[in-house]
Amino acid sequence: MTASSPSLLPPARGVVRAVPPYVAGRRASTATTAALASNESHYPPLPSVLEEVARAAAELHRYPDNGALDLREELATSLSVSADEVVPGQVVVGAGSTGVLQQIITAHCDAGDEVVFAWRSFELYPLLVQLAGAVPVPVPLDPFDRHDLAAMSAAVTDRTRVVLVCNPNNPTGTALSPAELEAFLAAVPPHVLVVLDEAYLEYSSAGPTDAIGLLRRHPNVCVVRTFSKAHGLAGLRVGYAVAAEPVADALRRAGMPFTVSALAQRAAIASLAARDELQERVALVRSERARVLAALRALGFTAPDSETNFVWLRLGDTGRERALGLLAEADILARGFAGDGLRITLADPATNDRVLATLARFAAEPAPAGAR
Ligand SMILES: *Cc1c(COP(=O)(O)O)cnc(C)c1O
Repeated sequence: MTASSPSLLPPARGVVRAVPPYVAGRRASTATTAALASNESHYPPLPSVLEEVARAAAELHRYPDNGALDLREELATSLSVSADEVVPGQVVVGAGSTGVLQQIITAHCDAGDEVVFAWRSFELYPLLVQLAGAVPVPVPLDPFDRHDLAAMSAAVTDRTRVVLVCNPNNPTGTALSPAELEAFLAAVPPHVLVVLDEAYLEYSSAGPTDAIGLLRRHPNVCVVRTFSKAHGLAGLRVGYAVAAEPVADALRRAGMPFTVSALAQRAAIASLAARDELQERVALVRSERARVLAALRALGFTAPDSETNFVWLRLGDTGRERALGLLAEADILARGFAGDGLRITLADPATNDRVLATLARFAAEPAPAGAR
């Protein structure tokens, strides 16, 4: 008998043993590797934000403010529009928006409860739902890689507690119009929490959605946002939710204390203050997005319009593996999804040119039948 004999070790819960591990996008191993597999900002944090992090680091022997009051006040102010005031009690911060999503599932789902989401969408949704012992209800995207909102509202049952709407959607980049969202919210019963995951909101060409207006008209809405993408702070782990105060209160109870460090809280406040500087970066991503999408379509690829910092190529399994292979040879990491396609994060113009040159080689090679 060995100490590691599995049958003698304390077993994890069945749902934990059944859940597959989260597969993160690969990280760069060398300085020349283009790491385009995780939709991070291609640009380093702003100097003013880094200075604030350095100042906050001097106090690392202290626990952070568990209530994150300064950050929640800044967020409430920045989210308030004249007619619709947001108060700090409506704001919940967490360890990245994935941390906030886990608080949402923990607060709302018992074993056997159902969570409806589009598929394919964010990899983490089914894992979070399964870990809670709840039941994932994936609803296929429509033929244009968009949420099929009619099918999603039809999938709501007596057991449904939460609907996750990823807008714009990861990994397809497609976005919903305000009218579509409004009609969907009118069709979902008010006791079901509708989570709008707006991780890529800043990149939308239509400008920010009126999430706060939606929340006023539909108090069962919970808006989730992050500092990990356009703000360039993925490594610090800070995201937030905005909801009706009783909903927000429950989310705070469902979170672990001290998960958002003082570094993260103060960096987030500094990043909100540097909004104009960030806008310049976002504008560059948008113009590169238009250029890259046009070039990809000229090469014959099928790519939906993207409202994010990445592009989505619908490719069969053979084509996807071939494209990933060519990109890897060119020292470019992208993200493939079995059965669906290939996601490539946008970067600076020179790196995007490397991607386009590689995919031009892909397009020029004779493809095996059905591979594209
Ligand atoms: C990247 C991403 C997030 C953000 O995750 P963090 O935990 O905030 O880093 C959330 N939702 C979606 C859909 C994403 O793509």
